[in-house]
Amino acid sequence: MEIKDVLLKQQIFFNSNKTKETDFRIHQLKKFKRLLKENEDLIYNAIYEDFGKSKYETYISELSLIYHELNVFIKKTKKWSKRKNVSTNFANFPSKSYIIPEPLGNTLVIGAWNYPFQLSLIPAITSLAAGNTVILKPSELPAKTSAIMAKIINENFSVEYFHVLEGGVKETTELLENKFDKIFFTGSINVGKIVYKAAAKHLTPVTLELGGKSPTIVMADCNIKVTVQRIVWAKFLNAGQTCVAPDFILVEKSIENEFLAALKKEIDKYHKNENDIENNYLRIINTNNFERLNSLIDDDKLYCGGKTNKENRFISPTVLKDVTFGDKIMKDEIFGPILPVIAFTDLDEMITEVKKRSKPLSFYIYSKNKKVINKLLREISFGGGAINDSMMHLSNDKLPFGGVGFSGMGNYHGKAGFDSFSHQKSILDKPFWYESGIKYPPYSDFKMKLMKFLME
Ligand code: NAD
Repeated sequence: MEIKDVLLKQQIFFNSNKTKETDFRIHQLKKFKRLLKENEDLIYNAIYEDFGKSKYETYISELSLIYHELNVFIKKTKKWSKRKNVSTNFANFPSKSYIIPEPLGNTLVIGAWNYPFQLSLIPAITSLAAGNTVILKPSELPAKTSAIMAKIINENFSVEYFHVLEGGVKETTELLENKFDKIFFTGSINVGKIVYKAAAKHLTPVTLELGGKSPTIVMADCNIKVTVQRIVWAKFLNAGQTCVAPDFILVEKSIENEFLAALKKEIDKYHKNENDIENNYLRIINTNNFERLNSLIDDDKLYCGGKTNKENRFISPTVLKDVTFGDKIMKDEIFGPILPVIAFTDLDEMITEVKKRSKPLSFYIYSKNKKVINKLLREISFGGGAINDSMMHLSNDKLPFGGVGFSGMGNYHGKAGFDSFSHQKSILDKPFWYESGIKYPPYSDFKMKLMKFLME
């Protein structure tokens, strides 16, 4: 079906007001949860074929997050859709005031490839929970995953409500020519700019979930054993192809050697060899990315790892040491299993270096020193992050997830997502039985005095 026809059907359906009924929305969310459950094996297989990713890792990094958000929306949609009474100022006596959260209308969700299910489906179900229709355009790179998503959704939901349109640049460009009521995009900064520009033509609001280089700072007072455990898991999950993965490490010089040795020991513990798929280690998505990453491994700075195999797009977990901010690897987001480590002695100098760069999507601090933690939180702007952990902040639906500056605009997860797909309609509701007359002409000194008394 042509894009225009799908959108026209969704416009007509939205105007029928069916999606305004919260019972309808909750029914659809429950149905979607059931469909995911019934099709879990197909999903595991598709992701395995695209990435070589194990069932367990697919569950923890994709499905469990979707189920969690579905449960939140099934439970909260009624409450979050209710009108909210607010107080009324004296000048409007005897009115009451309230806010009605209303759906925006016809929404477009564009997904990225690295967690192809959750990055497409969490925004989509959030939009449905808020009462919108959805056209979902998943990333074309994991082709099996995109196809299975289209099959599950298009065979079970009506095209006028929730529909997947598969495709790459050409199809997305065509989609973006149309007028939507909201566009939710996850992907790179460059494509984010294209989406923003296309949306501006129709004044369509956007949420942009973008990327960037997320620093991790390791202070000498941290617990090194636990620190490396948390960093290694977050960095090498999905072979480093994670927007919130620690991109590079800033470690205090006094513990550099101890920290590097602990990193290596931790990596050796669970990433053993290139065919060790059970141990949750996967492939680089395509040859382009493999080549790009391969060119970032500077042999002179290699501390451990560095094994590659072009045929099956394998790159072993790799650590680079003695890295400087001028090195090639420090230019763009790495998005792969290579971890550069920069040692520092002066915290303020480090803060200055970080602030010279774009505001990161995430920032991680490993320290027990509250003063240092608060200084970093106050001085560095970033999307979100964690203290003494990496990445896990995104699993708490009470924490709005999103970037700032070049790492994105807008938030989602839980209530933040519901609000980003809703309009807050403000209403002043006044009875007929009283009218003060103060705002009407003829104006007088007395009215001026009274007005000043009321307003100042
Ligand atoms: P991408 O920007 O290449 O692709 C994202 C989507 O845009 C895909 O659906 C793709 O088909 C479409 N697209 C690509 N080129 C286009 C063009 N010229 N015009 C219109 N549409 C186009 O991003 P990606 O490679 O899928 O993902 C990697 C990037 O996404 C990284 O920078 C990563 O940090 C970021 N990311 C961010 C988050 C987040 O939540 N903030 C999550 C995952 C990935």
